[in-house]
Amino acid sequence: MESLSVAEAARRLSISDVAAYEAMRAGRLVRESGSNPARVSLASVQRMAAQRRAEAARRHPDAEGFAQGLDNLLNGPTGNASGYLPVDYARPPRGRNALRLLPADAFALFGRDVLEAAASRNQLRRDGVCATCWAATSARVHETHGPEDTPAYRALLGEPCPADRARWTTEAEATRRAMAALRQTETASRQAAERDRARQEFSAAEAAVRAAVSRRTAAARAYSALDPSVARQAGVQARRRAGFTASGDLPCGCSRDTYCAGHTALFGTSDRRAARR
Ligand SMILES: [Zn+2]
Ligand SMILES: [Zn+2]
Repeated sequence: MESLSVAEAARRLSISDVAAYEAMRAGRLVRESGSNPARVSLASVQRMAAQRRAEAARRHPDAEGFAQGLDNLLNGPTGNASGYLPVDYARPPRGRNALRLLPADAFALFGRDVLEAAASRNQLRRDGVCATCWAATSARVHETHGPEDTPAYRALLGEPCPADRARWTTEAEATRRAMAALRQTETASRQAAERDRARQEFSAAEAAVRAAVSRRTAAARAYSALDPSVARQAGVQARRRAGFTASGDLPCGCSRDTYCAGHTALFGTSDRRAARR
């Protein structure tokens, strides 16, 4: 089981270490048995991240409006100092200092790396760096959610550059190929399962036939052993019907060309000539 430290899990989920420990105690993050210091399964971290994203998205159906509000908190005008208060006291924090003002849903929905890039957007632009590229790289390193090609992310990060468009195209193509491969694998395994079922059915039918044949053979053997007079009589009658006289007879009643009743049952034919061919 792939696992993460609690601090790594907290970083990926954009929650505090304390909140990550609470999630582990509540069982939402699955502790690797016997781990000390505690480690949690990667699968449970990914599941919780997806759940938090979905919950936040439900609470904010207008993702673009939500993003614009966040952008205003991070990069909005600093307002007009009243003149009565010291300037630094009156001004709300902006940029990276404003990250702590954002609601938890912002981190759940957009991920810490996108929001940090959004908070540094003006500085990045002055340095000639694309905020979307920066967020994508940072998200890949931290394995958090990266920027998407939607108005909400444009509100936070500004217009994407050609490199972003190329990356999204590549990602979409990779996803499409992965889905196609998955479908192909599913089809192949379904066909293999059908083949297996048919083979099993055929084997079962064959086994039933073999059992029936051996039962018939045993029954014929028992019949001729227990009541040879009946078997002999049947053989004599058959011989008479066929117009044979005694020649090549056996004690059981088989004639040269015709089996007795017991052997007929045993071999599945009354024609003894076939045995000489
Ligand atoms: Zn870019
Ligand atoms: Zn016989």
